[in-house]
Amino acid sequence: MRGAVLYAPGDIRVEDREDPKIIEPTDAILRLSATCVCGSDLWPYRGIEAVDGRSPMGHEYAGIVQEVGSQVTNIRPGQFVIGSFFASDNTCELCQAGYQSSCINKEPIGAGGAQAESLRVPLADGTLVATPDLPPDDLVPSLLAASDVLGTGWFGAVAAEAGPGRTVAVVGDGAVGLLAVLAASQLGAERIIALSRHAPRQQLAVTFGATDIVAERGDAGVAKIKDLTNGLGAHSVVEAVGTQESMLQAIRSTRPGGHVGYVGVAHGVELPGTELFFSHVHLHGGPAPVRRFLPELIELIWTRRIDPGKVFDLTLPLEQAAEGYQAMDERRAVKTLLRP
Ligand SMILES: [Zn+2]
Repeated sequence: MRGAVLYAPGDIRVEDREDPKIIEPTDAILRLSATCVCGSDLWPYRGIEAVDGRSPMGHEYAGIVQEVGSQVTNIRPGQFVIGSFFASDNTCELCQAGYQSSCINKEPIGAGGAQAESLRVPLADGTLVATPDLPPDDLVPSLLAASDVLGTGWFGAVAAEAGPGRTVAVVGDGAVGLLAVLAASQLGAERIIALSRHAPRQQLAVTFGATDIVAERGDAGVAKIKDLTNGLGAHSVVEAVGTQESMLQAIRSTRPGGHVGYVGVAHGVELPGTELFFSHVHLHGGPAPVRRFLPELIELIWTRRIDPGKVFDLTLPLEQAAEGYQAMDERRAVKTLLRP
């Protein structure tokens, strides 16, 4: 099969890779209908995260089950399925509590490289969720979005306790931040402030439900959010970047008693203890337990109540993955969908 491999920073190639096979009796093999490039793939692509030799890339996937292991009972060949970036048993105590991305048996999907024609998914019964039927082609981008970027934005909004009567601010205008806006809107937030300096992204944020746009960042962004909230700060702030600046901006934009949901993968973030102590904010986040939300998200997409696939503003054949990475790196594209 063909698959994307990162050789070194900036050097992504699509090449022949070994076809995935059933290894454990709980595995499934998928033929992928669509995959994509994640903002977190840009960390190793930019050399900010070390590249350890030749790395297969990708952890977002949707496709058709080709084969299942002997112990798989819920999932069967021919179904269209979506899973998340961690395989999980969905039965252990942590999964049952809604934290499948901390499952005691979790396995990273990225190790197998989902930017490819086929993918092995461990713990198939716990990990994969099937759609009611084979989806029409125009729903595939939105279903793919549920695999990570929508589920992650959704968790950010849930962790920030977005809901009726609350003002939600979203720090970060990448695909996760934009879909956190959509999630906050679906969860009934009264007011949604999107932080973005880029006109096309501001427009998408408004499409997804943002009521206010703030172009300032850092301390100026914090001041603007305070201006919009009677000097108090937002009730709920989603952090969807993962840098020191964005994390502090999120904490400082939150009112005492409010909640920060942080879903940007942290790189070099160190929190000042004294400031945190006096801030009175709740912090919750981490790798999103997307599996918790998948059934609900698939239902919302299937019935066309949400259209998260709009975040894909570039669609390329898998063979052109390198251009897909470059476009996102240069911020020419919000998110690249790859068609195997
Ligand atoms: Zn588990």
